[in-house]
Amino acid sequence: MEAIITNTGSMKNVRRLLPLSLLAGLLTASLWLGQAAKNEEAAKVYKVLLIDGQNNHKWKVTTPVLEHALESSGCFEVDVSTSPEQKATEGWDEWRPAFSEYDAVLSNYNGELWPDPVREAFEAYVKGGGAFVVVHAADNSFPEWREYNEMIGLGGWGRRTERHGPYVYYKDGELVRDASAGRGGSHGKQWEFPVEIVDPEHPITKGMPKTWKHTKDELYSQLRGPAKNMKILATSPSKATKRDEPMMMVLEYGKGRVFHTPMGHADYSMQCAGFYTTLQRGTEWAITGGVTIPIPDAFPQAEEVSPVVIP
Ligand SMILES: [Zn+2]
Repeated sequence: MEAIITNTGSMKNVRRLLPLSLLAGLLTASLWLGQAAKNEEAAKVYKVLLIDGQNNHKWKVTTPVLEHALESSGCFEVDVSTSPEQKATEGWDEWRPAFSEYDAVLSNYNGELWPDPVREAFEAYVKGGGAFVVVHAADNSFPEWREYNEMIGLGGWGRRTERHGPYVYYKDGELVRDASAGRGGSHGKQWEFPVEIVDPEHPITKGMPKTWKHTKDELYSQLRGPAKNMKILATSPSKATKRDEPMMMVLEYGKGRVFHTPMGHADYSMQCAGFYTTLQRGTEWAITGGVTIPIPDAFPQAEEVSPVVIP
């Protein structure tokens, strides 16, 4: 560290002493703090209810990252509602998330079917104009819940097959809805993959680089579902399927709007300036139908990831 202090004038020397990724992280972290202060002055603060409690992923680790991703923009306040744990015999009668008191609901949940009153309240909330944000394995949940699948458009695993809807992907720039028989949901090894914008005019993606590099994550492929009233905003090239798989989707369900991101396998996958920005802008769009949250200077470009360091 001493050498850094004596070389303060020269960025070149600092670069040589700090690993590049750490330097990028420090730059990103400081830019995020600046961004939050700017947004706070400009925008209204929306209330978001995050649902967790069951997931085949480390939800206790990822929930705080999702909270930071939204709250660091200065535009959201997040409350968490945690369901009873898997196979719990008690607690379900008391678990009644107050969906209607929130501007948006975000799911970090992949587990047992919610009790009837919770499902009914959630359907009424979204149908009536609520906003819903689906992150990664939340799209694995509830293969048997028809209305949920209409909301998310595409899902994976849970024995999903062609009966749950077509496999939707892009090939050579063309949208394909493949209704032939096959499984729903797969992924290869985690990697830093490119996200390619296919709808650059949508409020969420407007102004983003056409291609940007996401931090290490699972690239979901072979997602299936009703895929009605759904627009794909971005895709990523799967090495496993050799197809461009949907990587950001928007849907309309009744009067409600849904933002669906299959990204976000782990805390390090979420700690990406691209993930942060798309989650913030996607949530704002689901709430208002527009986007005011800016794309930060730290947003990743085609060749370089841009990790976010949580202070
Ligand atoms: Zn995963």
